[in-house]
Amino acid sequence: MKERPSFPARLDFSSSSVKAKPPLAIAALGAQPGRQVSAPQLPSGLGLDSSAVRQSMVKKLAAQGITDTWVLEAMRTVERHRFVDSALVGQAYEDTSLPIGLGQTISKPGVVSRMIELLRQGVPGKLGRVLEIGTGCGYQAAVLSQLANEVYSIERLRGLHDKARENLRHLHQANLHLLFGDGMEGYALGAPYAAIIAAAGGEAVPQAWIDQLAMGGRLVAPVSAGANSPGKQALVVIDKTPQGLKQTVLEGVHFVPLKSGLA
Ligand code: SAH
Repeated sequence: MKERPSFPARLDFSSSSVKAKPPLAIAALGAQPGRQVSAPQLPSGLGLDSSAVRQSMVKKLAAQGITDTWVLEAMRTVERHRFVDSALVGQAYEDTSLPIGLGQTISKPGVVSRMIELLRQGVPGKLGRVLEIGTGCGYQAAVLSQLANEVYSIERLRGLHDKARENLRHLHQANLHLLFGDGMEGYALGAPYAAIIAAAGGEAVPQAWIDQLAMGGRLVAPVSAGANSPGKQALVVIDKTPQGLKQTVLEGVHFVPLKSGLA
């Protein structure tokens, strides 16, 4: 029997509800032959070797409290400067979010590592199948691909979906699947997921995500704090256990909004 605990997939302090939308088709990676993409960015402005500056970023992450050595190693490996515009390359290893176009931002390394550490808590080896909502420029997807057997990452903005595809090309990660679609619906074809991570914050956690989470799986997402605290979001962890869903509300965060539909 499918686990359907009496769980309000929203924070208690949230008041308004999000209407479910009919599912939209999701185009799999490779479904856009002949699409023009911009030229890969060169790691200009970082000197000959960016690994030293990445190493110092990782030291700072560890000092901030990230202890999962797998996560730290993945953060050391993935070249964040390849995911930002050339004008911002000099800031690529600062713990800051940066614009990636279309009004969106690449998440701070501190937040990326924090969320992935939460996803991995209690998992001895690699994560199984992971769903990411909000590919953006593809950076977090790249980090996840180092730590999971399969990663499905959905983006609703065509321009960023294409940009991520180009940014990720150099990694040749066969386990990373980029999808163009409305992530509010999740991606049922890849379900169930051992882990679900959202890079955009909505009023509530969509029921589709809960449904597509595997038993024993964990979801980490920013959720808005509701009408009483406009603009505020908190990180929420949801564990799907045989006893039901367990929700933990953690620190305040600041993510771009989760929106429905494609653009
Ligand atoms: N993980 C990204 C962060 C991108 S910002 C990175 O590493 O760069 C969050 C992204 O979520 C934005 O690109 C935004 O367009 C996307 N987004 C918002 N709502 C969405 C939805 N319903 N489905 C898919 N993507 C969504």
